[in-house]
Amino acid sequence: MNILFAASECGPFIKTGGLADVIGAVPKTLAGMGISVRILLPAYPALARVVAAGEQVWATDSLLGGGARIVAASAEGLELLLLDAPHLYDRPGNIYLDPKGRDWPDNAFRYGALCKVAAEIAVGGIGGWKPDVVHAHDWQAGLIPAYLKAFHGAPPTILTIHNIAFQGLFDPSLIGPLGLQPWLYHMDGMEYFGHLGFLKAGIAFSQKVTTVSPTYAHEIMTPEFGMGLQGIITARGADVVGILNGIDLDIWNPADDPLLPRTYSARTLQKKAANRAEVARRFALNDNGDAPLFCVISRLTTQKGLDVLLDVLPGIVSRGARLAVLGSGDKGLEARFATAARKWPGSVGCVIGYDEPLSHLMVGGSDAILVPSRFEPCGLTQLYGLRYGTLPVVSRTGGLADTIIDANPAAIAAGTATGFQFSPVTAFAFEDAINRTCEAFRDPQLWTSMVKRAMAHPVGWEQSARAYKALYDAVTGAN
Ligand code: ADP
Repeated sequence: MNILFAASECGPFIKTGGLADVIGAVPKTLAGMGISVRILLPAYPALARVVAAGEQVWATDSLLGGGARIVAASAEGLELLLLDAPHLYDRPGNIYLDPKGRDWPDNAFRYGALCKVAAEIAVGGIGGWKPDVVHAHDWQAGLIPAYLKAFHGAPPTILTIHNIAFQGLFDPSLIGPLGLQPWLYHMDGMEYFGHLGFLKAGIAFSQKVTTVSPTYAHEIMTPEFGMGLQGIITARGADVVGILNGIDLDIWNPADDPLLPRTYSARTLQKKAANRAEVARRFALNDNGDAPLFCVISRLTTQKGLDVLLDVLPGIVSRGARLAVLGSGDKGLEARFATAARKWPGSVGCVIGYDEPLSHLMVGGSDAILVPSRFEPCGLTQLYGLRYGTLPVVSRTGGLADTIIDANPAAIAAGTATGFQFSPVTAFAFEDAINRTCEAFRDPQLWTSMVKRAMAHPVGWEQSARAYKALYDAVTGAN
């Protein structure tokens, strides 16, 4: 079976968040199940070398304001179809934002073009290859089923929502310039409260809608989490499915991670200490084995609840615990973490920026990883934490609720706990979870048993890839 993925990011080439990890990982597992995935991706400057090594398979003089071509390339075990349209993608810096940090003013065209081309490939094929299913990811690919409405016999589309907070809303006057059919603009179609909604179009017109955890699939049917789309999500009913994300076990493997000073397994946990010492050195933290070393690897935004972490910092410091933060985003949060590191030297350290190698070291060298998100479609860093025996302390929402088993007395007695959960996202509840973590840390037998259980928890793609395959079979009638 052939599947066309369409997405705006793909690891390890271009990444701003978890979407890239998913797009870069799941096709590899699907390949082992006889499914051939090709990924349609904008040819951003970061992909210039891959483009140069590829082969042109399609070209046009006019794609929403300029010439474009598709270059097919194989790289990092992935089959890529790179949409090379310099008028849309040949820009420096963040892929979504201009140098002043605002959305590029022509984002509707940049991602409308991706959708238009995906629809053409879906209907006409490319270089003799034709998809049986189009799998669109997030708002940037949301218009694909809307474009496909113009064709008879088009393959089915599946839309995966990685984060419903990002919806791609634009002025409806762009419907004509984007070449969309105006009669699709209505309340049950691509209209969202007077805007043209890319994600809304995807939800309305795809055969199936998936999101990245079962709990988030339920949450987005409610006003609290649905961000205005709860009505149409609820209306799609059984067509909405939650399929949990996994992680790439080749990239995230403590026993074979070239980015760790010392590799380790569940049988050689004592080797983790060398990594902890290196984290402490990099973040200028005290050496205190009596209390845990916590880490955070995150976009710094209100979604991630890190303002609440700032509120509980005095409690963390007073318990002798330490905190290493790696992140970037909201300037106010960046400044507050930098100030905290100055206020509590030796106890709090922070690196503002994006640093993949450092993130591996932190997961490999910390005792626990903090993910206090207000909402979290799936979350990946808690999965890295499980695999590296770095116990997750998480809010009970979305994929965090689905992947971590809280160390409450019953779970401890039953021998099932893998981390610590709290709810709601308040300083009071978070501090209680941190206190419970510190207490568990002082009980080496309990802590080690939790670490070993966490490391054995399945976090790969196997099960979820099977769920995607079942969905592809269902929409093509192949089962
Ligand atoms: P989201 O997609 O909402 O940002 P996820 O937890 O799903 O959150 O995915 C975030 C991904 O980005 C993870 O792979 C995480 O390790 C990575 N990441 C986030 N911030 C940084 C950073 N500052 N440096 C390195 N990696 C980061």
